[in-house]
Amino acid sequence: MKERPYQICSNCVMDTSDPQIRFDENGVCNHCKDYLEKLRKGALTEKEKKEKLQTILELIKEEGQGKEYDCISGVSGGVDSTYLTYMLKQFGLRVLVIHLDNGWDSELAVKNIENLVTRLDFDLYTKVLDWDEFRRLQVAYLKASVLDMEALSDHAIFATLMDQASEKKIKYIINGANLATEGILPLSWRYDEKLTDSTNIKSIFKLFGEGYLRKFPLLSLQRFAYLTRVKKITVINLLDYMDYHKDESKKIIQENLCWRDYGGKHYESIITRFYQGYILPKKFGIDKRRAHLSTLVASGQLTREAALEKLKEPIMTPEVLKQDLEYVPKKLGLTKSEFEAIMNLPPKQHHDYPTNRKTRQFLFSLNKKLAR
Ligand SMILES: [Zn+2]
Repeated sequence: MKERPYQICSNCVMDTSDPQIRFDENGVCNHCKDYLEKLRKGALTEKEKKEKLQTILELIKEEGQGKEYDCISGVSGGVDSTYLTYMLKQFGLRVLVIHLDNGWDSELAVKNIENLVTRLDFDLYTKVLDWDEFRRLQVAYLKASVLDMEALSDHAIFATLMDQASEKKIKYIINGANLATEGILPLSWRYDEKLTDSTNIKSIFKLFGEGYLRKFPLLSLQRFAYLTRVKKITVINLLDYMDYHKDESKKIIQENLCWRDYGGKHYESIITRFYQGYILPKKFGIDKRRAHLSTLVASGQLTREAALEKLKEPIMTPEVLKQDLEYVPKKLGLTKSEFEAIMNLPPKQHHDYPTNRKTRQFLFSLNKKLAR
């Protein structure tokens, strides 16, 4: 990667730590523009939002008639998914709550999820990953030096949601992803195809992993196409049709579900905290808070000055970092020096290893032909 002079957006707080960032003559970055464009495209008036939400809810209820559940909601224990699931209850939907237990949940996350399902009287399905296998897979990702370590859990939860929807004949998966708080995230900071690229996972494991991969939930692009096209399973980002404000939502779930704060975005999971607080900044030069804060600035929920102030704080407190540095490598079965050696390997792209790009292109062109 060639060095370029440091520059920070004059509107948000994104900077050249995204190597692909571009600035216009006023110093405004492409993320601000893309985000506003996305918001504008999806922009609905209050009334339109309400109507659209109403239509979707009716559709979901109609489809759920005679079945045990109307929809599925994947829950991490974080604000977005907890608030969304709370709202689904208010809408009168019968929800199957699904959680992925990857072995890294904080105690508080387990408690928060327990409170959620008890208070809302929803059924909970917990998919527990085989720890030893998942440990070997994570170590393989670390050794491969690919950026998006979280891709593994994101893939596993998505594959589980899809599998359960198919098995229990539930047509709708309600997702907590939303434009209001998650709009900006540079392509260079994530692996975009992670939810449906089982090829990338399998090939990285084959090159760097020990033993076999047998139980990990995998979703191939072909299966995804089958489930969404033939079985008509639909993923809906419902928060986009609601007035979603993070702080207010937090208050609501605190009051109604006894939900307790983790003290940091994604701190519900120890590995996510360590990945975003240590591995990403140290090995890849990325501070993910920059993207989250920029989204809040661009959507008018936070001033740029306040975002800059927040960035001055350390990502993790020294005590938590010290604790995680002891705990995480040990739990992964790595000695301190093995972990250090891995941290010193040069960063790689997911595309440096086999991906399902060809299948993707094929299905895409097929889709185009069919649409004609
Ligand atoms: Zn910007």
